[in-house]
Amino acid sequence: MTRLGVLDRISGPIARVRLEAAAGVLEAVWVGHDRLAAEVISLDGDYAMVQIYEETSGLKPGEPVEGTGAPLSVTIAPGLMGETFDGIQRPLEVVRDAQGWYLERGANVGLPERAWPFTPSVTEGQWATPGMRLGSVQETTLVTFHVLVPPGLSGTLTYVTPEGDVGHDHVVACIRDAAGVEHDVPLAQRWPVRTPRPIAARLDPNRPMITGQRVLDTFFPVVRGGSAALPGPFGAGKTVLQHSLAKWSDAQVIVYVGCGERGNEMAQVLQEFPELEDPRSGRPLMERTILVANTSNMPVAAREASVYTGITLAEAYRDQGYHVALMADSTSRWAEALREIAGRLEEMPAEEGYPAYLPSRLAAFYERAGRVTTLSGEEGSVTVIGAVSPPGGDFTEPVTQHTQRFTRAFWALDRDLASARHSPAVSWRGSYSFYEENVAAWWREETQVDWLALRRRAGDLLEEDARLEQMVRLVGADALPDRQRWVLLMASLVKEGVLRQNALHEVDAFCSPAKQVRLLKAFMTVYEAGVEALGDGVPLVRLRDAIDVNQLGRMKENVPEDGVERIDEMAVEALRAMTNLRQALLSDRGEEVPA
Ligand code: ADP
Ligand code: MG
Repeated sequence: MTRLGVLDRISGPIARVRLEAAAGVLEAVWVGHDRLAAEVISLDGDYAMVQIYEETSGLKPGEPVEGTGAPLSVTIAPGLMGETFDGIQRPLEVVRDAQGWYLERGANVGLPERAWPFTPSVTEGQWATPGMRLGSVQETTLVTFHVLVPPGLSGTLTYVTPEGDVGHDHVVACIRDAAGVEHDVPLAQRWPVRTPRPIAARLDPNRPMITGQRVLDTFFPVVRGGSAALPGPFGAGKTVLQHSLAKWSDAQVIVYVGCGERGNEMAQVLQEFPELEDPRSGRPLMERTILVANTSNMPVAAREASVYTGITLAEAYRDQGYHVALMADSTSRWAEALREIAGRLEEMPAEEGYPAYLPSRLAAFYERAGRVTTLSGEEGSVTVIGAVSPPGGDFTEPVTQHTQRFTRAFWALDRDLASARHSPAVSWRGSYSFYEENVAAWWREETQVDWLALRRRAGDLLEEDARLEQMVRLVGADALPDRQRWVLLMASLVKEGVLRQNALHEVDAFCSPAKQVRLLKAFMTVYEAGVEALGDGVPLVRLRDAIDVNQLGRMKENVPEDGVERIDEMAVEALRAMTNLRQALLSDRGEEVPA
């Protein structure tokens, strides 16, 4: 700690410091007698601008400012899983009063201390390289924490701590580098939040992250290490969908960055998350989750920092060989924090008052998603899902627009679908994924089905349905010819039986890839067989009587994951009924009956 200068001017979360010593941009500093956490954001001659991560009321010019000599950093150590932090990684007291969840001002709290049972995986004399595992700690039932050689350090292991309980400051290994300098490696390590952690290589994004949500996996897939935008108007279901993804997706570790929309929304997340169960283990989901929470009464600068804190923690577990999913809800609140800080700095505003660097900040954030080879040669990934809440649901506003540029899957939530209680309200016309070609081979291998072709057939049906809807509005469905009414009927079956999914239903909440493909294939086969039957002259009324559309539409709920063959059987029954109709009709006419 060195004295850096004195406070000169204070404006909300921003203050000007008259420097008495050299400061670095992005240096973490302590401000005032209460030692409030802050960060240097710009330097101008004898002055530095700092953003303060705590409530600044009462802070006065003339109070001292201390430097730390290091950038704003997070601690990477066992004890992160299951924990809830504020935007600069201070554990939130799980105390609630009338104001909600709070932290005492100036509280310089670290991770909760305790002894961790450490098991070394290296021996003295061995050569250590960056990212190599030195040993592990069973952090929770679901997550093993691996202590890694810090990036940039290699040399001979001159000391390795024996198996036993260790605290965060405990030196688990010493490494003598090529210059003969000894480096202590403690259990807890630090990393600056605004610097991406290094990797060995980026891998092709060709493995889907399975979400269990049919509309996403089947139609708008995201990949491990990919990025997706989740824009939608207020109340359209962004938060519910993010929760479903946290619970059901096949990521091993979840980092959830909450920037609350409404006053009590974050409190609700803090209450609900600990109650969620990990469906695969039956353990609390929190055993593999880190929450970063910004309640509306927390300072805006902490919200700005929170996405970096979140993604740095995600990278830390990626580097241990995990597949991590980061959910940010909502990034619009984060962008508003940027806007507010820029305003206090009297920067020239760009679109809608956001600073000109909004796009580069968004790009830098989403670029930290990736499926990688870690420094130690393992595979790990960080998948980023960012919810966006454009005011009035207008997707042309800057945050939605720029997020769309830097993400490769776009899950647009639709107000009309939401109000029609079609959940998840992911618009099949307004959404897209650039990953479909990347994951096609995985689906073919996994399900033995030409997945690209199957979803193209379904996409064509939904397109035709959308065109016909216009006509229906003009003339009514009854005026349409049989074939077009069949399209409407089968499209509604795809909407009901595939796209719509009940997050609260025991069976339907999660749908495996195998079941997803079977459902869609069943519907498309029935649809296409129906088109042929109609072509032969079978009237629509007979066709409708022959198959039970309602029953088909409920297969998603009635057929459990361990009995998915039933879907094929029901499709075959429907096809047989249609074939019988055609055969009866053709033999009436005395025509050749097809086999
Ligand atoms: P947003 O975050 O977009 O403002 P929410 O996720 O909070 O919206 O959703 C608002 C409400 O819509 C929820 O409280 C819930 O009642 C309903 N809802 C949203 N998605 C679903 C879903 N998949 N299944 C059932 N209800 C849903
Ligand atoms: Mg929400």
